[in-house]
Amino acid sequence: MSNSIIKVNSLHKSYTTGANSLHVLKGIDVDILEGEMVSIMGSSGSGKSTMLNILGILDNYDQGEYYLNNILIQKMNERKAAAFRNKYLGFIFQSFNLISFKNAMENVALPLYYQGVSRKKRNEIALDYLDRLGLRDWAEHLPNELSGGQKQRVAIARSLISKPKVILADEPTGALDTQTSYEVMEILKEVNDSGITVIIVTHENDIAEKTGRIIRLKDGLIESNTSNIIQPVINSVN
Ligand code: ADP
Ligand code: MG
Repeated sequence: MSNSIIKVNSLHKSYTTGANSLHVLKGIDVDILEGEMVSIMGSSGSGKSTMLNILGILDNYDQGEYYLNNILIQKMNERKAAAFRNKYLGFIFQSFNLISFKNAMENVALPLYYQGVSRKKRNEIALDYLDRLGLRDWAEHLPNELSGGQKQRVAIARSLISKPKVILADEPTGALDTQTSYEVMEILKEVNDSGITVIIVTHENDIAEKTGRIIRLKDGLIESNTSNIIQPVINSVN
């Protein structure tokens, strides 16, 4: 028996700029169970990031309901939103969002800084996460000394360090070549195998195919929501 970790009912979101209003989400219903790996697809501008930002409590919605871990998430001040994010959520972005003047270890350790963990302790824990992602030797390097794939692995380590229940990834492979994209997807699969719910926004079919369920957005609504059988990886001879 699995529980809903994310449940969204009749969710609406519009953006208003000046006299114009753009109705982006027009009544979205989504139920994601703890431990699922789900992709959200849709063409550019279909509202994927809007959806993910709402799930990440980075933005408000106008109408409907959003339950995270059975807690109703409503308009709240930034302090409270940050506390929820820190407790439940990890984020991964297309452009990695690493701090350029901090090394890999310090980037990974950052969420623990906000939790008031001492520098010595948080760096120790960060090194452990870097180790798990095969980046122990890169701990002292700045982001611009790392490849795209390495940067995304640092970002994944950072997203994991606060032991989130859910990882939200917005086009995590969007800036990577195919081979590196698949490596990142393998890592996210391992993260998911450890019990963490993973939600990935992508517009690439081959990426979505590596998740257990594909939700497609179109014209502000869910066009389809289908479970997907993940094909085993067949290693090419090289
Ligand atoms: P996707 O991630 O699927 O490409 P987005 O969720 O980013 O789509 O955007 C959906 C629509 O909302 C687009 O038309 C976009 O231009 C618009 N939009 C996104 N963010 C804002 C904003 N902060 N203000 C006004 N319009 C926005
Ligand atoms: Mg987007």
